[in-house]
Amino acid sequence: MLLDALLPRCCLGCSLLLRHAAVLELCARCAADTVALPSPWRCVDGITARFAYDGALAAAMTRCKYGADAALAGPLGRALTDDPMWSAAPDGQAWDLVACVPMHTWRRIRRGFDHAALMLSHAHRAVPRAKVCPGLLVRVRNDLPQASLPATTRRQNLAGAFAVARAAPPLAGARVLVVDDVTTTGATLREAIAVLRAAGAVASALALMRTLPT
Ligand SMILES: [Zn+2]
Repeated sequence: MLLDALLPRCCLGCSLLLRHAAVLELCARCAADTVALPSPWRCVDGITARFAYDGALAAAMTRCKYGADAALAGPLGRALTDDPMWSAAPDGQAWDLVACVPMHTWRRIRRGFDHAALMLSHAHRAVPRAKVCPGLLVRVRNDLPQASLPATTRRQNLAGAFAVARAAPPLAGARVLVVDDVTTTGATLREAIAVLRAAGAVASALALMRTLPT
């Protein structure tokens, strides 16, 4: 945590050294094409998203996930903490647990890291809010990557893909936030929320970005 505080912060988009600390680590030029979602797109089906999937943030997320640049999970994760959903549940009460969408083991081995778990860890280090439990949900089926599928089959692909971990704390009545990097159709986070709600939790989701229809 001390090292985090001492390291200079660079723009996520263009690597320009930033003179001032900010939650969203972008220079003025890259920030200009980063769009906070307007209200109709901010919360859909219990899934809140902060930014449109576009511009410097989208490019940074792509480098993180597909360019194996794990260091970017730090600033991308910290950007989650600026959202009111990070602070409290919709009823104003503190979250009891914060989790993330699980990545299947073989995919994590191939990539070398789990970007959503790393983002969650960095967000919690920057602004601790709740008990963080990245392993709360597990992948019980090795579904196809959602990004490779058309919207119509994404929900079907995920049915039964997640389960609550055997070692999970009691969830009845617990306020649980699930975080992820990007939501497109919402199928992944809706499935995660459904599994948690079936276990008795009061679950909501927060994604850093939402893909908007073109
Ligand atoms: Zn920049």
